[in-house]
Amino acid sequence: MNIEREQLEMDVVFVGAGPANLAAALHLKNIVDEHNELVERGRKSGEKIPDLEIGIIEKGSFVGAHILSGAVMDPIAIRELMPDFLEQGCPVDTVVSSDAFWYLTENRRIESPVTPPPLKNHGKYILSLSKMCEWLGEKCEEAGINIFPEFPGAEMLYDEENRVIGVRTGDKGINKEGERKGNFEPGVDLLAKVTVLGEGSRGSLAKHLMQRLGLNEGKEPQVFSIGVKELWEVPAGNIEEGQVVHTLGFPSDTKTYGGGWIYGMKNNVVSIGYVTGLDYLDPLIDPHAEFQKFKTHPEVAKVLAGGKMLKYGAKTINAGGWNTMPKLYADGVLIVGDSGSFLNGQRIKGIHTAMKSGMLAAETILGAFTHNDFTSKTLQHFEEKVSASWIYDELYPVRNFHGAFQAGRWSALVNTGLQFVTGGYAWGFMPKEHHEAGHERMEKLSEYDYKGDDIKQRYPDLKFDKELTFDKITDVYHAGVAHDEDQPAHLHVLDTEICAERCAEEYGNPCQRFCPASVYEMEFNAKTERRELKINFSNCVHCKTCDIMDPYQLINWVTPEGGGGPNYKGM
Ligand code: SF4
Repeated sequence: MNIEREQLEMDVVFVGAGPANLAAALHLKNIVDEHNELVERGRKSGEKIPDLEIGIIEKGSFVGAHILSGAVMDPIAIRELMPDFLEQGCPVDTVVSSDAFWYLTENRRIESPVTPPPLKNHGKYILSLSKMCEWLGEKCEEAGINIFPEFPGAEMLYDEENRVIGVRTGDKGINKEGERKGNFEPGVDLLAKVTVLGEGSRGSLAKHLMQRLGLNEGKEPQVFSIGVKELWEVPAGNIEEGQVVHTLGFPSDTKTYGGGWIYGMKNNVVSIGYVTGLDYLDPLIDPHAEFQKFKTHPEVAKVLAGGKMLKYGAKTINAGGWNTMPKLYADGVLIVGDSGSFLNGQRIKGIHTAMKSGMLAAETILGAFTHNDFTSKTLQHFEEKVSASWIYDELYPVRNFHGAFQAGRWSALVNTGLQFVTGGYAWGFMPKEHHEAGHERMEKLSEYDYKGDDIKQRYPDLKFDKELTFDKITDVYHAGVAHDEDQPAHLHVLDTEICAERCAEEYGNPCQRFCPASVYEMEFNAKTERRELKINFSNCVHCKTCDIMDPYQLINWVTPEGGGGPNYKGM
């Protein structure tokens, strides 16, 4: 289709309105103003920088719509960005008043007398990251930054020398046959001196940029986890406001990375969720079912007793840490936040590191404008700034934390203890010298006694009673997902023949299980007399698990029409 597109020239374009990019844009605005004031007063040499045109594009219908996290925030970064963040109305929910770490056996909980240091959260803030991003977005707009919700970044724009020159936003009004509808609006080419990718975990533009420019070369493969979360309202007294519980053990087996969280929020609201490593072995594992099973543990069920589920969501996180961090810059582009692997897997925290990475990117961009050079020569300073900051001090010593879990829970726990003494060395506790990409580890059905792909074989006792436990369709309803059904599916499966034949036999079509939103279904086709793939794309909660975990890497997640997807307001 030959489409005439509008071109908009900006100075800096941020893709994704998450904590990293919002902090980056606001910090950039502040430090440019500061720079100009110092130059004007003769306190700094150099030229003043003209008012920058800064834009943030966001695929959700509003800032925060697609933002999901536990979340307990370490305020170290927001304090640097805005020392009076509380006075300015940052919507923290409550302060962590107590920490607990439970090891769960099938029926019991063994409470650790001491909370492991990385899980100590006393004095930190429990919050809805969606609410916080909504508020940060307002702060950005007050500072004169343009935010464009419902504008997905569909394609990177390059010049003839492979330098990034901006981003193309997605077209609107294309029907499922790929033809223009009456409301057709072409995407816009946003041209920028610097484009910053902060799309979160497995960003679709970041993935292609890394492949095209080889930004992962020499790095360990990224590993991901998926967090499945519900928000509950429970009777008063079930949990204290400010209480934070992290769990290990039930229902994960010892070869699978996984753990739960329970956070007591204001007004008897509970944030509860379960993380499953997307490097599990058993093809019948279903992260949504793991979470539902977690809630049936007597000690967990007690917290939810008499309560009501309010909301649901699922999202992947980059769990690989320092060793899996890609090259974070190229000509005209920087990568921040989860897209750049800034999460601390051991602390299960990434908001503070994401924000700090954004702020360091902003300082790098200021340097680029003062030198009027937007190539790698100047943008490479971003990595130097990261290495000289507290991000390095926090992430480098735990660089082998997640990888060690690929050798099983017990050796990983030994490694976790040892790394405090060794500064992160992991002799013998890693499965190999480097860990493996998650999708390569999935084992075939033939390695198990399973007779087919029925999830019941892995979870024989799991029932969805719609009081404590919910099936995926009920949960998806509580994620507020909406997509216009008359548009091309945004899940591109490169070869559906493999799904119907080889994958069915080898893995039992694990997409039906790892997707937490029932998007993938193998449906019997009477004509071909076999089960074939059906994609219910309108259920998609944009978690990206399928793009990550498909054993053949056939699924390519691309941005749907802007505004579609979950509604995580307040999650
Ligand atoms: Fe997540 Fe993929 Fe399912 Fe969408 S289709 S909810 S991205 S696993």
